[in-house]
Amino acid sequence: MRKPRLMTPGPAMVPEDVLLELARPVIHHRSAEAKQVITEVTEGLKYVFQTTNDVMILTASGTGAMEAAAVNSVPPGGKAIVLSAGYFGARWASICKAYGIQAIALETEWGRPVDPQTVANALKQHPDAVCVMGTLSETSTGTGHPVEAIGKIVAGTDAIFAVDGISGVGAMECRPDDWNIDILCVGSQKALMLPPGLAFVSVSPKAWARIDAFDSHSFYFNLKAARKKAKEFDTPYTPAHTLILALKAAINRIKSEGIENVWMRHRVMSEACQAGVQALGLELLSTRPAEGLTAFLVPAGVSESKLRASLTDRFGIATVGGQDKLKGKIIRIGHMGYTDELDVIATLAALEMALAGLGFEVEPGRAVTAAQQVLMGARQAVAVG
Ligand SMILES: *Cc1c(COP(=O)(O)O)cnc(C)c1O
Repeated sequence: MRKPRLMTPGPAMVPEDVLLELARPVIHHRSAEAKQVITEVTEGLKYVFQTTNDVMILTASGTGAMEAAAVNSVPPGGKAIVLSAGYFGARWASICKAYGIQAIALETEWGRPVDPQTVANALKQHPDAVCVMGTLSETSTGTGHPVEAIGKIVAGTDAIFAVDGISGVGAMECRPDDWNIDILCVGSQKALMLPPGLAFVSVSPKAWARIDAFDSHSFYFNLKAARKKAKEFDTPYTPAHTLILALKAAINRIKSEGIENVWMRHRVMSEACQAGVQALGLELLSTRPAEGLTAFLVPAGVSESKLRASLTDRFGIATVGGQDKLKGKIIRIGHMGYTDELDVIATLAALEMALAGLGFEVEPGRAVTAAQQVLMGARQAVAVG
């Protein structure tokens, strides 16, 4: 017997009380009960997002929220500055291309954070840019970007700032109102502890002014239609409302833990995971690690696919490899949402054994010890503070 642990950066593990909500009989999506749940969940999402901006629920994967942000804020032929520092940053440019939006791509080496100064320069060079599209946590490299500093720069211009927070929100600090994030995109299957199928967008008054200035070229992802229905706590089309019912349970968990404690838990888990990986002599990919996942380079002489297969087959631990140019080169361990300190310890213990099984020299317990030291330090700090 192996206990499955989905240590992947989305989809991620879903707690039992949330799963049980999904087992209930389907109610009608325009019933009073459904409206009541949408009302509560919309308020709850504002808490999770830490925003007073409008938050809307879309039935789509996270990419649907990105597509909605792009197609509603930038008219065809308009210009966007895309902060491309990984596979998901590059997705913004692909979405722009699909809608005839001119994407000015600012490339950053994968694994490095975006330098806010390059954004300032690009905005000076392209004063007609309507939107800057960035990423809070670049999941392909495990990098957290300095969104607060970038937001400050964008706020001084007429452009709006759209942020892909799909693997970041609920895993690391994010304050759209203080950080000048005009559109924040989130998906359900990462730190929000749900299965895939819902996407969320928050929209600031500055972004609404852009959106109201033209008619979006998308029918399904039309944020004006979504806003109109959201005022009645409804959605324009049939939502995945079974997931919305489950979302209420997930939000209740976040509320009872407290969003700042949720962020702290992720910070501690990520520091423990990083310490463990490094104690084995492995190298982190990112110079500014995100807090919902850890990406490390596969050591020379070890096969990435064999290592991941061994983690799954022998220990029930699912991880993911690299995307695009990082394929075969890195392994990514997700520790977001319904994940605790001991899931991280278990994963590191399994990693030690799997590496040893593949002939990599490992002193058993090294990674675990390093992680425990981080965790004990954090507990002490909490006890004292
Ligand atoms: C997962 C992820 C996406 C893609 O989301 P889907 O739900 O697969 O559409 C986009 N951006 C980031 C940063 C992600 O982590």
